[in-house]
Amino acid sequence: MDLSPTPAEGAFREDARAWLATNKPELPMPSGETAEGFAVHRAWERRLFEGGWSVVSWPREYGGRDATLWEWVIFEEEYYAAGLPQRVAQNGIFLLAPTIFELGTQEQKERLLPRMAGVEDMWCQGWSEPGAGSDLAAITSRAARDDAGGWRLTGQKTWTTRGAFCTHLFGLFRTDPDAERHRGMTYFLVDLKTPGVTVRPVDKFDGDAGFAEVFFDGAFVPDSDVLGGVDKGWEVAMATTGSERGLSLRSPGRFLAVVDRLVTQYRETPDPSLRSEVADGWMAAQAYKLATDMTVTRLAAGDKLGAESSLSKVFWSELDIALHGTALRLLGDDGALEGPWMKGFQFALAGPIYAGTNEIQRNIIAERLLGLPRK
Ligand SMILES: Cc1cc2nc3c(=O)[nH]c(=O)nc-3n(C[C@H](O)[C@H](O)[C@H](O)COP(=O)(O)OP(=O)(O)OC[C@H]3O[C@@H](n4cnc5c(N)ncnc54)[C@H](O)[C@@H]3O)c2cc1C
Repeated sequence: MDLSPTPAEGAFREDARAWLATNKPELPMPSGETAEGFAVHRAWERRLFEGGWSVVSWPREYGGRDATLWEWVIFEEEYYAAGLPQRVAQNGIFLLAPTIFELGTQEQKERLLPRMAGVEDMWCQGWSEPGAGSDLAAITSRAARDDAGGWRLTGQKTWTTRGAFCTHLFGLFRTDPDAERHRGMTYFLVDLKTPGVTVRPVDKFDGDAGFAEVFFDGAFVPDSDVLGGVDKGWEVAMATTGSERGLSLRSPGRFLAVVDRLVTQYRETPDPSLRSEVADGWMAAQAYKLATDMTVTRLAAGDKLGAESSLSKVFWSELDIALHGTALRLLGDDGALEGPWMKGFQFALAGPIYAGTNEIQRNIIAERLLGLPRK
């Protein structure tokens, strides 16, 4: 594995850095989990798109710049090093899009991807239900065949991140109630303006209205908005989870930027008793970067992301809590309650839960990577 950048990669980094320095919005940006903040983030992400930096690794015809996977990693490093926040379009561009590239029809690619890159359509993930979280195969929301060339959706989704502000939802619905649990479900792409869809915002514990419950009452979805085939929803969903747990949602740039801020914080409010904790955090972020480099090397050679994305998920979610926890300890009782470290800590606490809980990831690691017997 040769990690030295090529001249083209060096030039790409310089271009990205220069563009971000000239074009980045006023920081810190408001939370993207409120209606006003979401609009500010969306305008910034539109600016990224217009500059050609929204989805660098996508083909040009869909709004990208044909960059390699390595260049994408470089862009992410520069993006987060510039102090920029996670993208509110991320569930579309980082979760749904790789699945559309892999399993979508040509018509779906042409219709959906450019609008997603340009933040005209904002996608949220409609998988969890009140009775189905870790056990996703327990979903009961249904899709019934309609003679008009489509499906009628009925049921309820919950914990839909930014669902109150998004325009579209990708969701799992049961199309064959008699089939075995992991069969008989289908992956639908739903316009949230469709009659029969009701979105109800849910406040998070930090006060932002970042979640939603989404209710379906006979909403019509045409056949052209089935992704990956009728009754194939489980396989399609597993393709999405590889992106969610593994590479694309949690690029190392994000944690390298956090650990840089942590080192700066240590210099501002030094506490020798926390010195080795800061050093451990720095080393863990570098380790995550190196492990990702190894994954990128494999993927660039044509390999696929498999169950090892679960290892990555456990690592980044625990790392995020550790880095923010150390920063709060550095700030001490007076400084810790307000500000970006506390907001970041609150969000980090959710890391072991979303994208499949860490207990579930450990089950996957035990069974699929270590080959341990199922209980
Ligand atoms: C910040 C955040 C954002 C989210 N965004 C979305 C979203 O956009 N779209 C969406 O669809 N969902 C979203 N979710 C929901 C998330 O996917 C679920 O919370 C998660 O899958 C866990 O499901 P649950 O909450 O029903 O908990 P449960 O499944 O009821 O689990 C409760 C506890 O039991 C443990 N447990 C359950 N089964 C097992 C087992 N077999 N072995 C060992 N332990 C087990 C779990 O690990 C957990 O600790 C989000 C959640 C959070 C916190």
